[in-house]
Amino acid sequence: MKPIKSIERLTAAFRKLPGVGPKTAWRYAMSLVDADDETAREFCDAILSVKREVHRCIKCGNYTEDEICETCLTRDNSVICVVAYPKDIPPIEKTGFGGVYHVLGGTFSPREGRGIDDLRVAELVERMKGVKELIIATNPDLEGEATALYIATKFRKLYPDVKITRPAQGISVGSEMEFMDEATLTRAFSSRREM
Ligand SMILES: [Zn+2]
Repeated sequence: MKPIKSIERLTAAFRKLPGVGPKTAWRYAMSLVDADDETAREFCDAILSVKREVHRCIKCGNYTEDEICETCLTRDNSVICVVAYPKDIPPIEKTGFGGVYHVLGGTFSPREGRGIDDLRVAELVERMKGVKELIIATNPDLEGEATALYIATKFRKLYPDVKITRPAQGISVGSEMEFMDEATLTRAFSSRREM
């Protein structure tokens, strides 16, 4: 049977999503072939609207549809939790953390050619006024640890009165914040240690 080009195209598009293999991609594509026009249109509109409306908060760097996100506007700005990516925030939210975040946009990674200058460190300096504690919650892997150490050293010099902490490492080395269960992360946060 001759392959149907437009279905192949849609399948290839789904395969670009994380965790979607060829079979699942094909099933997703087929479900849209069978969907009514309205469902298909809603699907396209939702994707386009995300691309149009969502951008980074000018303070913390997390995703928002506003200039400054609601977290930055409404929460305690004296405790900042530093993370590598926006995807690290939802699991930390579940621990009941009540401060604000700062998204670095990655970790220090010589392998991928990403240096400290590529991270949002200058933006963090900009918002340090009135800050009492900086929690550095990058992943407990090699790159996350190196980044945490760099930031701790730099900010300790610049702001000797600010407490700089890191979630406790009951967490196995190499594990990612994104996939940690709520209880482990809550424990790591409540018993954070000073760096
Ligand atoms: Zn924000």
